[in-house]
Amino acid sequence: MKHYRKELHFRTDKRRDFLNITPEIRLAIKESGVQQGLCLVNAMHITASVFINDDERGLHADFEKWLETLAPEKPHNRYQHNGYEDNADAHLKRQIMGREVVVAITNGDLDFGTWEQIFYGEFDGMRDKRVLVKIIGE
Ligand code: ZN
Repeated sequence: MKHYRKELHFRTDKRRDFLNITPEIRLAIKESGVQQGLCLVNAMHITASVFINDDERGLHADFEKWLETLAPEKPHNRYQHNGYEDNADAHLKRQIMGREVVVAITNGDLDFGTWEQIFYGEFDGMRDKRVLVKIIGE
């Protein structure tokens, strides 16, 4: 069985952002040499997500609006976590959007449905963040 590990690094200009990281994941699969297997992609931070959905601007605006309804950033003092920090909303948003995805690898590529794309969801940006890619298979 082959195994491959890679870290992706991000630093967004905004506090919140969604980045399509599908090309980076495809590159990692190519580098791994795995033809049949599984690919795990997870955020290595508790204020960021990795998720699969459509690469459509309107949907991303809807996500932002929906997440701000559920866990508004402000006022910061509405959260007990914000004693020393101001990122309680980011922890909650990450919990809703998820930590990781696992995707099947078939014939050396992501075995995706038509509109599936992998995104990094940043909720407390403007700092260095990491995503782990772990690939196993043969
Ligand atoms: Zn925090």
